[in-house]
Amino acid sequence: MLTIENLHASVADKPILKGISLSLNPGEVHAIMGPNGSGKSTLSYVLGGRPGYEVTEGSVTLDERDLLGMGADERAAAGLFLGFQYPVEIPGVSNVQFLRTALNAQRRARGEPEMSAGDFLRLAREQADALGISMEMMKRNVNVGFSGGEKKRNEMVQMGIIDPRLAVLDETDSGLDIDALRVVAEGINRIMRKPDKAVLLITHYQRLLDLVVPDFVHVLAEGRIVRSGGPELAHQLEREGYSEIAA
Ligand code: ADP
Ligand code: MG
Repeated sequence: MLTIENLHASVADKPILKGISLSLNPGEVHAIMGPNGSGKSTLSYVLGGRPGYEVTEGSVTLDERDLLGMGADERAAAGLFLGFQYPVEIPGVSNVQFLRTALNAQRRARGEPEMSAGDFLRLAREQADALGISMEMMKRNVNVGFSGGEKKRNEMVQMGIIDPRLAVLDETDSGLDIDALRVVAEGINRIMRKPDKAVLLITHYQRLLDLVVPDFVHVLAEGRIVRSGGPELAHQLEREGYSEIAA
């Protein structure tokens, strides 16, 4: 479904990703772990097509289509969803407005009919309820004045509404207390644990991976994948630290 081959990328002419190869099949959850500064967020930005992140070598395909040649909106229409380590605030645009516009833009791009206001509100209410977000919060400006945990839960509401095929989630667990972590993990499992979907779960800690158990764990260090294994690798990292494993 997603194939990354020998991906090299630079930021401000500084090489950050130095040859990443990774393949995700439908139905799989892959975790990417690694110390601060290893390039985890850079990988998610490159997949999302963020300006300023320059691919210097390698390829990425989503369902055999060249992902790197697509604009950010085309990537979204192709089924890619990105969850950010630091979700953006969008003053002046309400959550529901934002999501309905995003969803309908993607449906149009796929040649599907737009969703009516009524159907959309039903869907938004259902997804918000499942993640403990009130409709009053859904009507507020996107992420403005939301706590860290609320932003992360809101991101899962967005994911539930967009219903992507591939989610790249960057440190969705950061800033969450244990109850919020459980809610977010349940959201990921409910929305994305399906035979035709895949998840790239970027995380610093193993605690999220006890709740969203990955099929594969990869360790990123200095822009390269230095180890790959099963869920037990996350526990080994927690015990032994990155320096042992990445050495
Ligand atoms: P991680 O998410 O694993 O902590 P990042 O991908 O955020 O790592 O960062 C990887 C490296 O890229 C770091 O050394 C960081 O300083 C550098 N970097 C990231 N963004 C920029 C930028 N906009 N300008 C310069 N260097 C950057
Ligand atoms: Mg990061």
